[in-house]
Amino acid sequence: MVKIEQDHEACIGCGACVSVCPENWETTDDGKAKPLKTELPEVGCNKEAADACPVQCIKVIE
Ligand code: SF4
Repeated sequence: MVKIEQDHEACIGCGACVSVCPENWETTDDGKAKPLKTELPEVGCNKEAADACPVQCIKVIE
C-alpha cells in the first residue's frame, strides 16, 4: 500500500500535479490541489506529481 500526503497549506496551486497525474489529483475550490485518494495499491503517477511540485508539499510513502 502506498500513502500519499500533501501539505495543503503549502500548496501554491500551480497545477503541476494535476497536469502530470490527473488520475489522482484535482483542483480544489480554494484554487489549490488535492489527491483524490491517499491510499493506493500502486504509486502510479503520484511520484511524478511529487517530483513536479515546486514547493515539495507532496509526499509519497511506500
Ligand atoms: S504541484 Fe504542488 S504546489 Fe502545485 S498544485 Fe500540486 S500540490 Fe500544489
